[in-house]
Amino acid sequence: MMGEQAMIKIGILGCAGRMGRALLAEVDGSSRALLSGGTVRPGASPLVHTADGRSFADSIDEDAAALFARSDVLIDFTSPKASLDHLALACSHEKPLVLGTTGFTADQQADIDDAARTIPILQAANFSLGISLLSSLVRQAARALGPEFDAEILEMHHRHKVDAPSGTALALGRAVAMGRGVDLDEMSEKLRDGQIGPRVPGRIGFATLRGGDVVGEHQVIFAGMGERLVLSHLASDRQIFARGAVHAALWLATRWQEDQTPGLFDMADVLGL
Ligand code: NAD
Repeated sequence: MMGEQAMIKIGILGCAGRMGRALLAEVDGSSRALLSGGTVRPGASPLVHTADGRSFADSIDEDAAALFARSDVLIDFTSPKASLDHLALACSHEKPLVLGTTGFTADQQADIDDAARTIPILQAANFSLGISLLSSLVRQAARALGPEFDAEILEMHHRHKVDAPSGTALALGRAVAMGRGVDLDEMSEKLRDGQIGPRVPGRIGFATLRGGDVVGEHQVIFAGMGERLVLSHLASDRQIFARGAVHAALWLATRWQEDQTPGLFDMADVLGL
């Protein structure tokens, strides 16, 4: 119909997780999206309750292939292993995929990069508006200050998080490396213990804290002689990630419907940063 946008059918892979439940609530409340269903880990209950007390059971089961078949776009916040299975299904069904899972190995990331030659993939270690902006500020700061200012990245997350440093901390490290024109893999320093000697110039350091129910906190510290610049982001509600992921899914599905071109995208593309 003229002037009316078609509703986009969104499927949620791993809808019983912390992020999955936030996504169920977000898609359910969206005026532009329809929930095409969700998957749970094999053997898990298909009845899922959101934090605000709503229950979902319709179209929730273990059958990811069927969910791909009836969705316009899929959102995955599961585990690296499950995400790789979902990636294969996205390719065989030619469906756009939003990937929020973190902690991929270099080989797994290479598989994602390969798949993006067939289908559109939007991958982000963090879907918040604040972190997207912080990444570009960090890149600018690193370029302006140079390696004389030691760069350290500190992050804290809840006690259940399984990968470290967080995907967001690594993305912020990449922003420092890009600003300096160096390779993060060559310059990162993730472990310090015992008699390690003085700081090696130019290194990008990481420190990881875990505990309680912290949703996600990141600081990028540029420490010079006599002054320190500290850029930080505090997430207090994981619904912000769900909101960003649904916004990204609508953007990706619309783009795919309009021009059918694959590619690997991030939140900077969605936000036009
Ligand atoms: P979680 O452990 O609460 O949820 C993961 C869910 O996936 C679980 O319910 C698990 O049963 C389910 N799952 C695993 N394998 C599955 C399969 N094959 N099929 C269906 N479901 C399956 O974890 P979480 O806190 O929701 O985080 C999930 C991932 O998202 C982690 O990698 C985390 O780092 C990442 N994360 C990313 C962002 C972001 O903005 N990109 C924000 C928060 C978390």
